[in-house]
Amino acid sequence: MSLIVHKYGGTSMGSVERIRNVAERVAKWHRAGHQVVVVPSAMSGETNRLLGLAHEISEAPSRRELDMIASTGEQVSVGLLAIALQSVGIDAVSFTGWQVPVRTDDAYGKARIESIDDSRIRAELTAGRVVIVTGFQGVDPNGNITTLGRGGSDTSAVAVAAAMGAAECLIFTDVDGVYTTDPRVVPDARRLARITFEEMLEMASLGSKVLQIRSVEFAGKYQVRTRVLSSLTPPDIPVEEEAASGTLITFEEDENMEKAVISGIAFSRDAAKITVMHVPDRPGIAFQILGPIAAANIDVDVIIQNQSVGGMTDFSFTVPHSEYKRTLEIMEREVRGPLGTGEIVGDPDICKVSAVGIGMRSHAGVASEMFRTLYEEGINIQMISTSEIKISVVIADKYMELAVRALHKAFGLEQEIV
Ligand code: ASP
Ligand code: MG
Repeated sequence: MSLIVHKYGGTSMGSVERIRNVAERVAKWHRAGHQVVVVPSAMSGETNRLLGLAHEISEAPSRRELDMIASTGEQVSVGLLAIALQSVGIDAVSFTGWQVPVRTDDAYGKARIESIDDSRIRAELTAGRVVIVTGFQGVDPNGNITTLGRGGSDTSAVAVAAAMGAAECLIFTDVDGVYTTDPRVVPDARRLARITFEEMLEMASLGSKVLQIRSVEFAGKYQVRTRVLSSLTPPDIPVEEEAASGTLITFEEDENMEKAVISGIAFSRDAAKITVMHVPDRPGIAFQILGPIAAANIDVDVIIQNQSVGGMTDFSFTVPHSEYKRTLEIMEREVRGPLGTGEIVGDPDICKVSAVGIGMRSHAGVASEMFRTLYEEGINIQMISTSEIKISVVIADKYMELAVRALHKAFGLEQEIV
């Protein structure tokens, strides 16, 4: 008997019918003798609907009240799931974040979990019940309801698993695991049986939407064995079969692991490029250009500074697409005049494509293989950034799918590696 946490996403909880399916799946694990804590999301579309109502009333609704409203989607889910379990003869009880409590800081809309009191959950499990805890929400030090940011139920589930020392956290979702790349772009993308936590972290931060990035950070920090698997299989498939399905996030380089150098190709269209031309090249310039951006809470991603010619250089960086206009405004106002730079030019039609793999650490030549592949497709690389286990390039948006397909092929990701 083990303690297992199940997380179900919005699609899996999307209708009464689907909630019945979830109940059947959970009941199966419970009957197999496991203690089960379930963390569901709101029914799909519900969080958007709730936030939309608030924005209909006000253009700038209070963040506290937004969390008050958004958190109710999950409250409905847990209640419905408890009823669905009870109606198939399983004793189940639901709790909201504040009832547990799941303690967070007070950053409404993006709160961080600080601690989880597991005593109430544990007592209910010991009494033989399935315990259902709301995803996405917690309570701040002053007793206000907070939410964890969009997609935050993943983080709730992993955090509950960490707090309870669960044997495994199963993230049930509408895809059957983590793929070498998005199968909508590359139809012969392959599901990975395993991926290391570090690779998963890169994939999540580079645009793969399978897991919320904070949940991966949590899994890494507390070494929570986490598996991504399908909630669309028949709910009565055998527990042993289900337990071995999907993609397991592992913590060490396993000898038996697939020996690929690259595990996946990630991509993101959420980027825009800004170039400050003709910048006097002197100490402090990077700080003076990027300081105002940081002060405005805008995340800067890839940065390059050219070789200076006659004491002048060009300085480029990328920001999220949604911050493009604001960044240009800040540059015009706080950089161009004050620093005496040349023109500020921007390009919102760019994307970032990345190759990720811990195998890179022990293999030279991955970068040149990547650059050669893009060259052969006639794709111009505008910026490059690397870490120990990833290489990212910034290219024109219109080449994104071509680049992803070519790289997926070049690194042999569609083949089964033995
Ligand atoms: N319901 C929340 C959202 O839509 C949290 C989640 O689904 O993970 O973002
Ligand atoms: Mg999600």
